[in-house]
Formats: sequence, C-alpha cells, structure tokens
Amino acid sequence: MNLAHLLLRHARQAPDRAAILHGTAPHATYGDWAARSAGLALRFREAGLVPGDRVVLFMRNHPRYLEVMWAAWWAGLAIVPVNAKLHTTEVEWIIDNAQARWGFVTRDVTPVALSGLERQVDVESAEMDRLLAPIEPDCAVPVAECAPDDLAWLFYTSGTTGRPKGVMITHRNLMTMGMTYFIDVDALSTSDAIVYAAPMSHGVGLYAVPHVMAGARHVVPPSGTVDPEELFDLGRRLGPLSTFAAPTIVRRLVDHAEAAGLDHATVGRAFKTIVYGGAPMYLADIRRALQVMGPRFVQIYGQGESPMVGTALPRAILSDTGHPRYLERIASVGIAQTPVQLRIADEQGRALPAGTAGEVLVKGDSVMAGYWRNAQATAAAIRDGWLFTGDVGCLDADGFLTLKDRSKDLIISGGSNIYPREVEEVLLNAPGVAETAVVGAPDPEWGEIVVAFVVPLPGAELTEETLDRHCLAHIARFKRPKRYVMVDQLPKNNYGKVLKTELRMWVRNQAA
Ligand code: AMP
Repeated sequence: MNLAHLLLRHARQAPDRAAILHGTAPHATYGDWAARSAGLALRFREAGLVPGDRVVLFMRNHPRYLEVMWAAWWAGLAIVPVNAKLHTTEVEWIIDNAQARWGFVTRDVTPVALSGLERQVDVESAEMDRLLAPIEPDCAVPVAECAPDDLAWLFYTSGTTGRPKGVMITHRNLMTMGMTYFIDVDALSTSDAIVYAAPMSHGVGLYAVPHVMAGARHVVPPSGTVDPEELFDLGRRLGPLSTFAAPTIVRRLVDHAEAAGLDHATVGRAFKTIVYGGAPMYLADIRRALQVMGPRFVQIYGQGESPMVGTALPRAILSDTGHPRYLERIASVGIAQTPVQLRIADEQGRALPAGTAGEVLVKGDSVMAGYWRNAQATAAAIRDGWLFTGDVGCLDADGFLTLKDRSKDLIISGGSNIYPREVEEVLLNAPGVAETAVVGAPDPEWGEIVVAFVVPLPGAELTEETLDRHCLAHIARFKRPKRYVMVDQLPKNNYGKVLKTELRMWVRNQAA
C-alpha cells in the first residue's frame, strides 16, 4: 500500500488528462505528474535516500508541492510539511528533530540556507527542473513497497504549549482519510477541481489525496495566498471548485461574495463545495455564509493526530432548515465520520452518557501511529487505541458532537467552568462586533476572570456598557466578560486560527 499508486493508476489510464494547473495555466497532466514523480524518485535513490527518510517542504503554495509529495511517496520517503510562516530557527529545530535529509523551499519563504539539510532545493530553480526530468513511470523506478503503517506525513503540531511534536501519519491513515472524503464529505469525479488557497502544509494539502483518487484537477492560485477575488475568478474560469478553509477564510469569501452582490447561481458556478474546519465556526457566521453563498458548505472536525477525520456535518443537514433542532445541529460539528468511533470520556477514559461534557476521544484507522520519537507523549495521547484529543464536547442522543472548547482554553472563575466559545457566540451577535476571542486572566479573587478581545465592525461605536448589556440579556451573569479589550485585529496563525496563547500572555503581562 503506497499512496503513489493512486497517481500511477490515473497516469496509466488517462495520461493526457489535466492534473495540475498554476492559475489557469496547465502545469502537468496525470502522465507528466507520474513521469516527474518517477524521475525525482530515481534521483532520490541515486543520492542515497532510502525508504523511511524524511524530506521537508518549506514553501508557499506551489504546483511543485504536489509533485514533491508524490515523488517522495513514490520513493517510500515521508514528507515533513512546514508552516511557511515559521521562523528559521523553528524550521531548523524541526529539521533536526525529524532528521530530515533534503528540503524543498521557495525563496520568498526562506532566502537563507537552512542548517541541518544535506541538500536544499529551490523549487523554482533549474536544479529542480533537472530533478523532475521525467522518466517512464513503469520501468526504471517502480513505486516503493510500503507497509500500511509506514510513515507518509510527519506533521508538526503548532507547539503553543512547549516544543512542537511530530505527528506520524501513515499511508493507511491517508488512504482512510481520502476514501472517507467520498463517503462523508462529497462525491468527486474527474470533472472536479480542488483549489489550494489555504496553506498546503495543513488540511487542504491532504485533500490532494481524495482528489488524486478521483483523477480530478488541482488548481494552485499563482498568488500562493488567499485572495478572494483571485479565487472567484479562478472559479469562474475553471470551476466549480472545491476547497478546505478555516472559518476566517470562509468569512473572507463570504464578505467578497456579498460585496460583489453575487447570487447563489453565480457563486455555485465558481464553488462546488467549501469544507470548513480547524477552528470554531460560530452560528452567526455559518448562517450568514449559507445565506450569502448558498448550500455549498460541509464542516469537518479533526486534528493533526487524526487528520481531516473525526466528525462531519454534511450539506444536507446544513440545508435542513425545517428540522426542529436545526440551529443546535448546525452549531455542532456533526456526526462521526465513517471510519471512526467517538466517545465522550472522563479523565480515566470512561464513557460518559449523552449530554454530558467531557473529553472527545476518537478511535479508528485515521488515528496517527504516535508522536515521532516521543513514546511518553504517545502513551499520554493514545490509550487503549483511543486518541485523547484535548477537546471538550458532548454528544447528543442522535450522535451529534458539540464542541465546547480545547480543555486548555477552559476558564474556571469562582469555581465555575466557563467555555469561551459560548461567550464568543453571544458577543458575535451583538451589533457592531466583527470578531471576538475570549480568554481567562488570572485574578486573585476569582481565580480567573473572563476577558473578551473584540474587533469592532468598521465605523461601529462599541462601548463596554452596550456589550455588557447584551451579555446580560443572553448568558448567565457569571459568564460575562469582566473586561473588554478593543483591538483592530486578532493574532492568528498561518492556518487562520486565533492564537489564544498570545492573548493570554498579553493579559498576563498587563497584570504584571
Ligand atoms: P490542528 O491539529 O492544528 O488541525 O488543530 C486541531 C484542533 O482544531 C482540534 O483539536 C480542535 O480544537 C480544533 N478544530 C478542528 N476542527 C474544528 C471544528 N470544526 N470546530 C471547532 N474546532 C475545530
């Protein structure tokens, strides 16, 4: 079992079918892609790289991301995808920890030579062209034999609580993830196309797998970033497109569609499916997204340790407005995806009854093999085959999972548990609020108090009094923020997640 066979299948069957596009420009057919993968796999082998070795990708989104991924798998190597926004010292730490041998970069992401690599290749160089010089895929370099549990993707966690850990994702994990897309997310065929707007080092990069399974097209925007205008334009020319995006990116697409006055039919010609996940989608935001862009959303919940697989909230449920519990359901993250079991558990891992909040556990073939060279962290995260996600949530009697928060984000004030997400949902409904993030701050009297960071909508005059009145009208008194901080924007990582650690540090420094 090797993911490279997914590519070879289509290359044999339809070598001339368009596979990768850079913007609207053709970059590779399925035949080209396989021949280049075989070529690079041969050069890896000639350079002495052996199955199991790691190669780092530290670059902006680029068609060559896909070529290196499949060439590495072809040769039996594992990819280490690195967030393009990391500092040189952070990448070098990862290179050292992963003992990576080669690195593929774009110059805009790193103009410097990274220490620890045997060879650093600029993917836009003539050297890269030589490495990718095509060879007949079936003769010189057969796809490496892989066991299902061989490493395919070594994904480093964001490391907000200490050093990042390498999550070992295997060929089996990604096969499972890819096939699950067809069952729980969306049907795909050769006429489909995925657009890589969010960073390919994260979820959307992995969605290359189901799109190769389907023999679909892969579109990389030339800007290498998220530019809604560019994306709608690509959608009009090549669409309808599918993509995966964090809620902050979805919001930008919705803002664009609304400002441009696009109707559902026009949006539908550009976008088939937008899968969202990776961070909370607030009720107000998904309702607006559906209203502006129509029924083209699917939510997934997963984490690096069970990539893209956990729960899914399908299009049909997001459209079922007549259901008596419609709002409750669309505020949830949906039901277990096909290959996994879910459990809400106490600290010992014992199952809790429906409706009780506890830690979310996941079990199934999408769950990582463990943390790279970190048996202790692995033993803490996977017990009896269950992945302890660190997320708090509850399951209803129908199997819908509602997430409360990460357990580390929970605020305990005067002995009561407060889930920031609940307060954020309420604040987002207050007139004039564009975005908000709620954290706990140490307090001598209460243990912790609730602090809300609020980004006002342009031109809105927000006062603490109006926000407080709004909270009093909608949530229990003790959950109200004791303090508001108005900001122009929230700190976010490259994947669009709000960096709550930074906000907590800021309030702590203020107190000091
Ligand atoms: P990462 O490993 O970087 O993908 O982060 C995974 C974490 O993001 C999860 O453990 C959740 O806390 C959060 N997350 C992922 N998907 C969702 C979702 N659909 N809704 C809310 N939070 C999510």
